[in-house]
Amino acid sequence: MAPIARLAMAVLLFSATFINAAPTATNHQNDHEIRHFSRAVAEAVPGVKLVYKCTVPNTMAITFDDGPFEYTKQILKIFKDKKAKATFFVNGDNNGKIADYKDAVKQAYNEGHQIASHTWDHKDLTTLSVSEINSEMSKLDDALRGIIGVAPTYMRPPYGAINDLVTKTVGAKYTIVIWSQDTNDWRHEDDWKASLKVYQDNVKSAKGKGGEIFLQHETIKLTALELAPKAIDFAQKKKWKLVTVGECLGKSKDTWYRK
Ligand SMILES: [Zn+2]
Repeated sequence: MAPIARLAMAVLLFSATFINAAPTATNHQNDHEIRHFSRAVAEAVPGVKLVYKCTVPNTMAITFDDGPFEYTKQILKIFKDKKAKATFFVNGDNNGKIADYKDAVKQAYNEGHQIASHTWDHKDLTTLSVSEINSEMSKLDDALRGIIGVAPTYMRPPYGAINDLVTKTVGAKYTIVIWSQDTNDWRHEDDWKASLKVYQDNVKSAKGKGGEIFLQHETIKLTALELAPKAIDFAQKKKWKLVTVGECLGKSKDTWYRK
């Protein structure tokens, strides 16, 4: 769908729940607003637990959405040099096509980062039928099995958009991960310091309790090259451990994937 149509659809769907839609069009323009809408709806679905925060104290999970993309390998180098781990919520066909980035995905997996699903092509799952939702998930699972030999058990819905149907359908098979801290990097692509401030403010207020899941996008150049290393430096200086979402929930690596 064209970005403008995407924006129009989102405004139409969610106009009752938020007022200001961003004037620019990116894949994540309504994440923040939809999160609040989604939380209320999703918590009404019995038996499905959404993940917003880590549970292991003094851990922090840096998560990247919408890749793989041309900056993925640079992100991996930064995390390797700084001995930190990340979680990548990847698409099959979004800014980049996963078939073009097999090496990067394999490298991320082999280096101990968590590969999780962000669906095949980043559709708003709340607009789809059960079979369409399942197809969005299984298509990416199959692609990942072909690349890393396993499929993820963790997912993040595009735009953070969920309703009862999505939560029931996806939640039956995957751990649904939202986020607790949104850097809003897509709102200020050239101002990575504004994104870093989200880390700084959070660490200041959390006083070592930890457990936050931070959202940003690996498709944004300055997020990859400037925000990522500075966020890691800042967190590590404050003695926070940068781990995957699975680790920050205390779950062992064998539970992050299925055959
Ligand atoms: Zn996304």
